Amino acid sequence: MANKKIICLFDVDGTLTTPRQVVKPDMEKFLLQTVRKEFDIALVGGSDLVKILEQMGGSDVVNNFKYVFAENGLIAYRDGKQIATETILDALGEDQLQELLNFCLRYIADLKIPVKRGTFIEFRSGLINVSPIGRNCSRDERNAFNEYDKENLIRPKFVQALKKEFAHLPLTFSIGGQISIDIFPNGWDKTYCLKYIEGYEEIHFFGDKTEAGGNDHEIYESDLTIGHRVTSPEDTIRQVKMLMALVKEKQSKGQLPVPMQCL
Ligand SMILES: [Mg+2]
Repeated sequence: MANKKIICLFDVDGTLTTPRQVVKPDMEKFLLQTVRKEFDIALVGGSDLVKILEQMGGSDVVNNFKYVFAENGLIAYRDGKQIATETILDALGEDQLQELLNFCLRYIADLKIPVKRGTFIEFRSGLINVSPIGRNCSRDERNAFNEYDKENLIRPKFVQALKKEFAHLPLTFSIGGQISIDIFPNGWDKTYCLKYIEGYEEIHFFGDKTEAGGNDHEIYESDLTIGHRVTSPEDTIRQVKMLMALVKEKQSKGQLPVPMQCL
């Protein structure tokens, strides 16, 4: 018996796919043929919609999942239809936005690091992604920067400078991935998408970056979700199977669903 009062909300990168890779057929089959029979399913990713669709196997994704949230929910789809968009430009306005961009460009211009490439700032609808090395570095250069950053604290120092300069703006500065810093309005983390999810008794969230400072942390800790910390796509499948077994067991005993935590 399907239990549509439960929705499973999945992070994408590292949770349904290995980092930066495309979803594997066994995961896709598991989600669409097994999980979807029992629960509604939804996606929330920090990337833009194009990247999420690429990673998850194309534009059918918005129809196959009850909700698809790109950029943490600033771009929101329900039942295949776009229901919302929100932009950092609307939130900040051109003047404040330029103050921020100009500061970042000057800071990077004055920075001496082993390697610099191109695309130091990527302007997305919901956030500004700033990279001291530049986003179009090679994979080797990316790894080398990440190591250099661990020893020389290039990004933590950059974040400190940003926090000092823009203390008057309600902005979050978050070190993300290997080479960049994300800047976005306070509250525009993954919890943002929860305002669109209605009518469920339980929202089970599955994510891989649930520790403090990770991009799944706030939604994992949120009172509105039951959080599941996963280590890989294989672990996600294992934990969802555990959840399905627990729910079945409760139903067979005639118990109402109660919040539960899988480890
Ligand atoms: Mg992730």
